[in-house]
Amino acid sequence: MKTPFHIMIIPTLGCPSQCHYCWSSEEGSPVMTLDTVKATVSWLSGFRDDPLTITFHGGEPLLAGPGFFRSALPILAEGLSKNTPSFAIQTNLWRMTDDIAEILAQYQIPIGSSIDGPEVLTNSQRGEGYYQKTMAGYEIARAHGLEVRFICTFTNKSVREKEEIVRFFREKGFTLKLHPALPSLRSEEPQQWALPPEEYGELLVYLLDQALENQGELEIMNINDLCRCVFTRRGTVCTYADCMANTFAIGPDGSIYPCYRFVGMEQWVMGSVYDSPSIDDLSHSDAWKKMHEFKEYVDKACSSCRHMPYCRGGCPYNAIAPDQERLSGVDPHCIAYKRIFDEISDRMNEEMFAAPPAFMSPFSSAHKPDTKPGIMSLIHRIVMK
Ligand code: SF4
Ligand code: SF4
Repeated sequence: MKTPFHIMIIPTLGCPSQCHYCWSSEEGSPVMTLDTVKATVSWLSGFRDDPLTITFHGGEPLLAGPGFFRSALPILAEGLSKNTPSFAIQTNLWRMTDDIAEILAQYQIPIGSSIDGPEVLTNSQRGEGYYQKTMAGYEIARAHGLEVRFICTFTNKSVREKEEIVRFFREKGFTLKLHPALPSLRSEEPQQWALPPEEYGELLVYLLDQALENQGELEIMNINDLCRCVFTRRGTVCTYADCMANTFAIGPDGSIYPCYRFVGMEQWVMGSVYDSPSIDDLSHSDAWKKMHEFKEYVDKACSSCRHMPYCRGGCPYNAIAPDQERLSGVDPHCIAYKRIFDEISDRMNEEMFAAPPAFMSPFSSAHKPDTKPGIMSLIHRIVMK
């Protein structure tokens, strides 16, 4: 699990790919300078003492080039040593070189990349040639011992091929993280690729069954996270926890935002690293106030939901983005969250209370042989990690 104190550094919003459903890249975006990295260290030095996760995100962060990472990583690691920072990067891997891989390997930086399934399907959603370019970068990263996991974006089109996508990830031995395509705020047809919440919920239940049936062969990060949330009764990833005041993103020019998803939107700037704002300074920004309005809204709107302690209304960006003028609901994926949380809770309760004799371990799979594979065995596997 990521530490709650999370800083996302966006070296640029530019990206060489043109994925059809992407809402987070910006042509001609500048690249962060090392002065901004130093100002970031200076800001964070007096900000908070907790352990820190720093994720490089984009756009496409590798566009910043090897020189950026060769200089920025020691500046951050040494300047913030009191926060014992751990690093991660989200990249499409197209610009991966031996040079960059070597630098990332020195800091043992895990990589999150993106493919949507087999080559033809990935290219149909992300553009011709995408798959080969990402796989070429993947080979370089692996040759340097870097860990790579893949985000798989399910759209309203690819969801029809879910069996083939799951088979692909299982056969390749790739760890999968599901991402539902969101309505694009920058498109004239925002719903063109978006996965409707009802279908998202059914997809999660399908993936739960796949994860249970293929334990040891197929790892689906979302399913692990969702099971962990229900079992521990607290949100263990940002979507299901209060990310406000624990997560910040820094844009290429040093502007501070609540999360990478808001970077580039003027009205979501909370301050600048060059001014070294305190938490109190940030709390006076409109962006902070809007994020906290969401928190208060959730306290009321979700108060009677049994999943409230480990869902917390979902992602504030998803809730706020469709109508930035006024908050009119919780995360629209609520339907999907309820569907999967109900499924996991009900199955877990059934297994825990259905019959395990007192001498059995609570993690023993108490389900009958002709029923679906038990959820507690997956939880045991997750807890033991
Ligand atoms: S806004 Fe959403 S994606 Fe961003 S940190 Fe919060 S929960 Fe995560
Ligand atoms: S499942 Fe829906 S109602 Fe329940 S806490 Fe999550 S967003 Fe709120």
